[in-house]
Amino acid sequence: MTDILKVLQVSKNFVKPIDIASKVVNMFGNFYNQEVVHAVDNVSFNVTSGEVVGVVGESGCGKSTLGRMIAGILPLTSGKLDFHDQHYSGFDEGNYKHNSHIDLKIQMIFQDPFSSLNPRQKIIDIISEAPIHHKLISKKDKKYFVKDILNKVGLGTDAMDRFPHQFSGGQRQRIGIARALAISPEFIVCDESIAALDVSIQAQVINLFLKLRQDLNLTYLFISHDIGVIQHIADRVVVMYLGQIVETASSDEIFSHPNHPYTKALLQGVPTLDTKKKIYTPIKGEIPSPINPPSGCYFHPRCKFSTNKCITDKPSYKEVSPNHFSACHLNS
Ligand code: SF4
Repeated sequence: MTDILKVLQVSKNFVKPIDIASKVVNMFGNFYNQEVVHAVDNVSFNVTSGEVVGVVGESGCGKSTLGRMIAGILPLTSGKLDFHDQHYSGFDEGNYKHNSHIDLKIQMIFQDPFSSLNPRQKIIDIISEAPIHHKLISKKDKKYFVKDILNKVGLGTDAMDRFPHQFSGGQRQRIGIARALAISPEFIVCDESIAALDVSIQAQVINLFLKLRQDLNLTYLFISHDIGVIQHIADRVVVMYLGQIVETASSDEIFSHPNHPYTKALLQGVPTLDTKKKIYTPIKGEIPSPINPPSGCYFHPRCKFSTNKCITDKPSYKEVSPNHFSACHLNS
């Protein structure tokens, strides 16, 4: 198996512009610094061809920003992204490069299919718009082309002449998937793609993703705040906290032998059948601000194992068992 995607020391900062009052104060000699949100902080990992890598963490941990950079929607602040060993986005020898040809091979499916579908366009036009624009198909072939793709996502030909509001949430997400497939991507970033659906529909859409992976040889980066969803779909799991990766391992390893206290806390929140636990329990404490992250280990204000060392020293990210990496002082 070869690596299809390499994420190499990628960071993304957002600079909050200073308001008028602060500008006026600056004019009189005082100085207000611009606030910088460190949304993604020096993240590296690889994705193997055909793999489903799940990225999990609470909202605000930087997983969606990471997904948007990989899909070519957001520029990087530093680091670089390689696709099939070809550099396509980020910095190389100090220069920013972006290869939009590779963007076509990487598509993104969003959480809310309704807001991402033009309500005035018929489904046939929504699905065929990008492949016609990129000259992958001709206008005269679009009917056959769209019919085939609708069939792949489990929708009938009659869907072609209807509008987005005429479909249920699950059907609209299938249309979103069909639109992404229309470009013949190799890699799909799914950003909370089933979060807005009923639980029964979620299972159907997960099964569709897995079938399409098999049929079309796709690779997925599957982003979710719900570690229970990740357990169902991912081969490997990347756990993020406050813009950084805190643990990575195969799905089997993460769910049988989680190492990082944050991963363990996420798992404790998942309702299970065997313990008859039906209610999601959030992790105690607030997520700190990414503008002013805590010293040492970013998780220390919420961690029940925190020591003085955790407050002062950043833990190194190291291999705790074969292909299982974690950043915690308890492994020292
Ligand atoms: Fe908890 Fe310390 Fe490990 Fe951070 S380094 S997760 S604070 S034990």
